Amino acid sequence: MASLEFKELDHIPEGLLERPASALYQQIDGPTLIHLEGRIKRPLVVSVLQHGNEVTGWEALRRLLKSHYRFDELPRSLLILIGNPRAAKHRLRRLDDQPDFNRCWPGGNEPDSAYTRLFQKIHDRMRELDPLAVIDIHNNTGLNPHYAAVNVIRPDYLRLASLFSSKVVFFTKPAGTLSLSMSEYCPSLTLECGQAGEIHGTDHTLAFLETCLHLEEISNKPVNADAVHLFHMVATVYVNENVLFGFGRIPAELALREDLDKFNFCELPSGTSFGDLFNPTQTPLKAINSDGDDVTDDYFFFGRGQVETLKETMPSMLTLDRRVIQQDCLCYLMDRIHFESDEEVTGPDPLPEGIARSDRPGAPAG
Ligand SMILES: [Zn+2]
Repeated sequence: MASLEFKELDHIPEGLLERPASALYQQIDGPTLIHLEGRIKRPLVVSVLQHGNEVTGWEALRRLLKSHYRFDELPRSLLILIGNPRAAKHRLRRLDDQPDFNRCWPGGNEPDSAYTRLFQKIHDRMRELDPLAVIDIHNNTGLNPHYAAVNVIRPDYLRLASLFSSKVVFFTKPAGTLSLSMSEYCPSLTLECGQAGEIHGTDHTLAFLETCLHLEEISNKPVNADAVHLFHMVATVYVNENVLFGFGRIPAELALREDLDKFNFCELPSGTSFGDLFNPTQTPLKAINSDGDDVTDDYFFFGRGQVETLKETMPSMLTLDRRVIQQDCLCYLMDRIHFESDEEVTGPDPLPEGIARSDRPGAPAG
């Protein structure tokens, strides 16, 4: 394949802010960096549309630039990355002939290709500009709250994340994400802004970007441990093959609660029921940890006609979509990372290997 290039612009092209994500391709046909100068020169990097169907970042950005800064100088320079306008045209995460862009950044596991070389170049260009912070904006599916993910546990990174949400997720897999590749150099976040197209997701993201633009610096002073609730992934939960399952009152071996996705990002006490069991012929669920070990018996008890949690845990990405459950998984389980506000913290184990291979929109890391 011929080498791929990205474009650089020093202004917003006429009419671009009028276009929804699906129409950007008419003016921008591939990855594009747009430099907008502000009062403080060190830029804030904002990345949108790495996944073409995740439009909240672009919606927030164009509203920010149209309303707040149409005539006013930006408080800080902005470096915008518009990732995949070709996929956005078709409202797809990526096109069939494209890899997942947010797995192609330096340090990833994608084989060397025109795309990994392209993202290496964009990465080098970002580094050259010594950004204050990098914010990569995504959406997911299902009923999930908005949250920020970090790849390094440090006060300034956590502080920035907590300005978006008090719940923060730590991940080091999948590799090859923008935020992970820039984490070595500056605070970098992956933002998960709920489902694409939700107006409150755009509002929240817009307010956060506005806050970031006004930060003079990001303090490295210890964060208050009550202000940041930090979690990491400890297991992936599957419905065992051949188990008849469904939701609500239906004839099945495993009848999951109809409102199961309400549990996403809730810290559940032990003894919480996921649903009812009717003479299952095998263990209905299995939980696999980051080493690939079966840890079902640590998390679930099936002895009382129900699926009950055995210890405090917090599920994420619970879905009511049978196809997603069969092809991918039921949910991820997360544990709280306890840290003292005045203590240096080292990271826990990385995420389960399986998550790195998952192409599930809304896998916990962008
Ligand atoms: Zn995404």
